[in-house]
Amino acid sequence: MKVDLHTHTTASDGLLAPADLVARARGAGVDVLAITDHDTVAGIAPGLAAAQDMRIIPGIELSTTWRNIGIHVLGLNIDIEQRTLLDGVAAQQAARAERAELIAKRLSRLGYTDTLAGAQDIAGTAAVGRPHFARFLVDSGQVKDVSTAFRRLLGRGKPGDVRNTWAALPEVIGWIRAAGGVAVLAHPAKYKLTNLKLTELAREFSAAGGTGMEVVSGTQQPSLTSRLARLAQREGLLASAGSDFHRPGEHWAEIGSAPALPADCAPIWSTWQD
Ligand code: MN
Ligand code: MN
Ligand code: MN
Repeated sequence: MKVDLHTHTTASDGLLAPADLVARARGAGVDVLAITDHDTVAGIAPGLAAAQDMRIIPGIELSTTWRNIGIHVLGLNIDIEQRTLLDGVAAQQAARAERAELIAKRLSRLGYTDTLAGAQDIAGTAAVGRPHFARFLVDSGQVKDVSTAFRRLLGRGKPGDVRNTWAALPEVIGWIRAAGGVAVLAHPAKYKLTNLKLTELAREFSAAGGTGMEVVSGTQQPSLTSRLARLAQREGLLASAGSDFHRPGEHWAEIGSAPALPADCAPIWSTWQD
């Protein structure tokens, strides 16, 4: 059985519409596909409509902070109409919108014009983020290229580098559980934590009600996979696997291309089989 439990669509920052994502997953031989857009469930219904015989797991990727570090948590097998989850998602979206307004305000003080509307245009249905501001500044001729926009205006420590205030880790785990889902710590190696800190994160995640951890994220090194598999086992977390697919052409995150879980892992999907 081929499983991919971490993918994005145009509902957040992915390039493919949900139906196109499902078609691509079918072409790659995926049997079970989770759609996990950032802080939205808008891609789930159209994905389900295109599913045919493929099993679609309704999911979400929620941003949160732990010790001032941005951490991503997947909610898998969620009820996308559950009130607590939807209220939480609305709060995350409001936080994103407030941040975009603040970025625009700071840019306008520096003389850059119409940036909020421009960034919103480029973002379309997705939440506005710094890359959208960068592209608008370039498209409107206010900055010469995207890397200059980040270096002068939007990158770390620059006026447009506005920190987001996300809900805390136990809170987002609570929303996922309220919606009947399982919380999975996304791509643990991406946070560049020391071994000790990563162990502490996994332990606190588990203690707060987290169920699983991505032991496989994209086409990663086998040595990392076995390290994460051991960590998951030690901390009592089930193993998940996903590509984190955003767009075609990124071979390290192609749908269905993530390696299989090591044989001794307890897969998170074993808890869902009817
Ligand atoms: Mn993303
Ligand atoms: Mn992520
Ligand atoms: Mn992701």
